[in-house]
Amino acid sequence: MTQGQPAAPTPASIADVAPGGHVGRRVGRAVGRTAGLTPVSALDPTLDPVLDLTAAERARVLAKSALFDPPTTQLPDGRRDLVGMSRAELAAAVAAIGEAPFRAKQLWHWIYHRGVTDFDLMSTIARPLQGKLAAHFVVGRPQTVTAQLSTDATQKFLFRFRDGQEAETVYIPSLEEDRGAVCVSSQVGCTLSCRFCHTGTQTLTRNLGAAEIVGQFMAARDAYAEWPGTDGLKNGEAQGEKVQGGKNHGDNTGRLLSNIVFMGMGEPLYNYVNVAKAITILMDNEGIALSRRRITLSTSGVVPMMDRAGAELGVNLAVSLHAVRDALRDEIVPLNRKYPIAELMAACRRYPGASNARRITFEYVMLKGVNDTPADARELVRLIAGMPAKVNLIPFNPWPGSAYETSMPAVIDRFAQIVMDAGFASPVRSPRGRDILAACGQLRTESRRQRSVA
Ligand code: SAH
Ligand code: SF4
Repeated sequence: MTQGQPAAPTPASIADVAPGGHVGRRVGRAVGRTAGLTPVSALDPTLDPVLDLTAAERARVLAKSALFDPPTTQLPDGRRDLVGMSRAELAAAVAAIGEAPFRAKQLWHWIYHRGVTDFDLMSTIARPLQGKLAAHFVVGRPQTVTAQLSTDATQKFLFRFRDGQEAETVYIPSLEEDRGAVCVSSQVGCTLSCRFCHTGTQTLTRNLGAAEIVGQFMAARDAYAEWPGTDGLKNGEAQGEKVQGGKNHGDNTGRLLSNIVFMGMGEPLYNYVNVAKAITILMDNEGIALSRRRITLSTSGVVPMMDRAGAELGVNLAVSLHAVRDALRDEIVPLNRKYPIAELMAACRRYPGASNARRITFEYVMLKGVNDTPADARELVRLIAGMPAKVNLIPFNPWPGSAYETSMPAVIDRFAQIVMDAGFASPVRSPRGRDILAACGQLRTESRRQRSVA
């Protein structure tokens, strides 16, 4: 299998030249204000306005992101996919075929609460209307190309979308309890080229749409037959009446697929609109109903969008820090040249909803001889002092062609101890799914290209 080599710095990438077309520190920016969005300076009146970001900059991030929009969710035969529509869009779609508004509510329940994809199995809808709905709409899922099971029970899915693009999704079951996280992708590839990340060697093909993001979670639930009342039956096998009166897990406790983390392929905050729409659907109380505490957005530090995500979504935040000095972070997380550590930390400090109960997670990949000294640990502690924070230490997961090694266990322990002594939880993550290249930073889709040249 031909694996990609670490990408050379890509000056034409979105991170380096856009948004805003400049690299490096900014000074003296005006405080921005966007309609419908709390200005970040209002969240913390003591904030230095120089560290605030302008609405114009946020707009540039969004405009650049729109260039990578996913294709339409309409099928070639004209039918539209109901998955990924907001409630308002679903209501409009139902109205457009002359049906009453309450049908949208019914459909939402069947699609997102019950996980039903076949209109014929929607037993509260009369037969003629089932047929009419099927003539106009589909309830889609990405196609499962492969599903690989690790020796530690982690499962990696390769999903294909309607235009043939593919992305990977990983289900990581807890080893102690009946719960687990679905790690979803937000983009096909990534514009950023973090030196230690396999996805970073794959250029961005496009953003994933809300339907494709929610669809990854729904398809994983299908694989584990985990919709309320399905009684262990696979989606579409024998639902209908059987789904009536099934077990409702309410707040998603006791579910195998209990959490969702945006830690797959791509930078979610460079696809904010689709990610936010997907999260709104995932959190809807009458559907999948994941609480914001069960959803984690991981970002390499797209500062202007962190403020917006905090104000609008309020989900858990994980920040891929990985280095505590700008010189090193500029090199291994090149987005740092645009949003340096001081700005990133200021954005973390003003992230709404962060508290001792809901700490910001700092992810720190342990790279042998690169970022793993006691001095690094002490500087990390200084950076996060006073913040409700925890530090996840991730032993580097190698991939074919990667240029780094994992720090020695004793070195990781010494680092963890310094962080812990300063009062921060600093768990060392055990790698999961390494044998199937499913661990953090190992995802990359190339099977499609391989097949097309085969
Ligand atoms: N783009 C987002 C989310 C996806 S990556 C982000 O960067 O945060 C999920 C996490 O895995 C990030 O913290 C990322 O830096 C880390 N990671 C990337 N490559 C890795 C590797 N080879 N070993 C361990 N962690 C890695
Ligand atoms: Fe992209 Fe995240 Fe990988 Fe960096 S670590 S290249 S931001 S997916």
